[in-house]
Amino acid sequence: DTIGVNLDRTAARFPERDALVECVTGRRWSYREFVAAVDSLATGLLDAGIGKGDRVGIWAPNRAEWTITQYATAKVGAILVNINPAYRAHELQYVLNQSGIRMLVSAKSFKSSDYVAMADEVRGHCAALEQIVFLDSPEWEALADTRADPERLNGIRLSADDPINIQYTSGTTGFPKGATLSHHNILNNGFFVGELCGYTEADRVAIVPPFYHCFGMVMGNLASTSHGSAMVIPSEAFDPGTALAAVQAERCTSLYGVPTMFIAELDHPDFESFDLSSLRTGIMAGSPCPAEVMKQVIDRMGMREVAICYGMTETSPVSTQTRADDSLERRVSTVGRVGPHLEVKIIDPVTGLTVPCGEPGELCTRGYSVMLGYWEQDDKTAEVIDAARWMHTGDLAVMDRDGYVSITGRIKDMVIRGGENVYPREIEEFLYTHPDILDAQVIGVPDEKYGEELMAWVRLREGAPELTAEALREFCTGKLAHYKIPRYVRVVDEFPMTVTGKVRKVEMREQARKLLG
Ligand code: ATP
Ligand code: MG
Repeated sequence: DTIGVNLDRTAARFPERDALVECVTGRRWSYREFVAAVDSLATGLLDAGIGKGDRVGIWAPNRAEWTITQYATAKVGAILVNINPAYRAHELQYVLNQSGIRMLVSAKSFKSSDYVAMADEVRGHCAALEQIVFLDSPEWEALADTRADPERLNGIRLSADDPINIQYTSGTTGFPKGATLSHHNILNNGFFVGELCGYTEADRVAIVPPFYHCFGMVMGNLASTSHGSAMVIPSEAFDPGTALAAVQAERCTSLYGVPTMFIAELDHPDFESFDLSSLRTGIMAGSPCPAEVMKQVIDRMGMREVAICYGMTETSPVSTQTRADDSLERRVSTVGRVGPHLEVKIIDPVTGLTVPCGEPGELCTRGYSVMLGYWEQDDKTAEVIDAARWMHTGDLAVMDRDGYVSITGRIKDMVIRGGENVYPREIEEFLYTHPDILDAQVIGVPDEKYGEELMAWVRLREGAPELTAEALREFCTGKLAHYKIPRYVRVVDEFPMTVTGKVRKVEMREQARKLLG
């Protein structure tokens, strides 16, 4: 299927069900209304000269228009380029040029940044860019309210293997790369995520992660529309109280987030006052999910069937997932097993050979989900996808005899202290058991004697007493091997983050290097 055909089929089955709800404005679309809005915009795009293979950029926070644009571009066969709403002018310019965007759909402002001014600044420096359409402008209204022409839309010949999306990676480890994805890649991934969560037309999914990321637009939007479930947008950008209020008001059955989002929700001062009884399932993904947080999500938020997913933008994104019938122990300690119709193997990154069960190595994925490649970066593509179409993820993992995978960290984050490989993840998990620690991150910092030393950054619970490095080391003594005990401890209010809510360890390492002189 193509995304357009799949959406039309859902709408034919569940025309009166909610498709999309925008909590901030109270606007809502049934599936019938949603398809009508998509077809109007799609016809408007055709009138504006946008067709198959043309790149359309979207630079906006989570708004209904984001979703409508996603499906409208898919219907005309244009390639949607997701642009991170946190980007500044020079990053915007890079993406516009790197992917050759002809039309940019942009919000006017977001979080007090003036997008109009930034877009104006780059306008003259982007050769392919013909048009910028700002949401809420008369140009946008004209485009979005075009009289739909289903015959013309049905006449467009599309293949499920056509590229449909250029999705830039989070930029956690360096400059973001544009993963080029097909209908086949992301529609299947969305569909199987929906299956995993057991979605039906009765489900209402609170989509908190940004749409610009596949967590939002694939695992959220496509999982919902392929099952007739409702997409609920709590707010333009993540806010713990607003997310909880949206679950309550819309009786959401499913809630998504990266671990830091769930931590913030659980820590919200009014947490107990929200009625979350409608929640049944949800997904926690994107970065290591601490067991303690997972337990609280099940116990205090009532998300009995919550799943952990592991994946990356380059694999559309999900590769492995826990299932509702997995034991609690496995749901808190692994990222589950490989998804349907996919393969996963763990290799020795040096020899390329599969390692024995239980030994760490680099996780590789193969199957329908592997991207077509990085957009116009064949050299970078060749570094990660080998001749047999295995995607080399750069993540370190262990697989047990039953096929359950645990992610032990990123190859780039692994610390080598005095010749010992140290996985920061393991130490972070341990630090979470400290009663005063809300969140912990561990990095390697250069050290003359050992090559690298460990530094822990911790965020303390409100009202917690001061925590010294000595006290924390004391806490670790006897429970962690001596070489895993952090030498340095920093208490901070915030970690450097990407908009997807991931901790930027590259940035932490830079700051630490400066601090240590
Ligand atoms: P960049 O590639 O630009 O540095 P990124 O890798 O963070 O950024 P994404 O594609 O958004 O960009 O994220 C994929 C990565 O997120 C994976 O490679 C993995 O390191 C991490 N990840 C995703 N899910 C999980 C999970 N459940 N547990 C641990 N790590 C995860
Ligand atoms: Mg990556």
